[in-house]
Amino acid sequence: MSTDPACIFCKIIRGEIPSTKVYEDDDVLAFKDIHPSAPVHLLVVPKRHVSGLSATAPEDQAVLGKMLLVAPQIAREQGSVDGLRTIINDGRVGRQDVFHLHMHVLGGPGPLGRMMAMDE
Ligand code: AMP
Ligand code: ZN
Repeated sequence: MSTDPACIFCKIIRGEIPSTKVYEDDDVLAFKDIHPSAPVHLLVVPKRHVSGLSATAPEDQAVLGKMLLVAPQIAREQGSVDGLRTIINDGRVGRQDVFHLHMHVLGGPGPLGRMMAMDE
């Protein structure tokens, strides 16, 4: 299993820094975002370190699929019972801050704000 000693999400996966886990299996971990942007704000990460969506390879196909399959399940379990939003920020254009692939899972009891593609 590839892991990066300096990567904050690898440290969460290894249990070296705390997180509020909501789902875990052999391939993925999901935990609450530390600065939530919505009533439900979760992050789903592959356990194998990969820096971002642009760095994925064919061998990541199964884990990418699992990340999407897990999203509605954990959103529902956390109280987003009527839908959700997923976001993957990638690279400079996508304004990625943490360079370990992660999918944001956003939800709530009510509708989220409208998403804008670009700032004014
Ligand atoms: P991104 O801009 O997509 O790279 O977002 C990174 C996300 O990781 C942000 O929403 C942060 O709030 C979140 N984050 C950073 N450090 C932690 C942490 N230790 N535990 C949980 N979430 C974190
Ligand atoms: Zn990592």
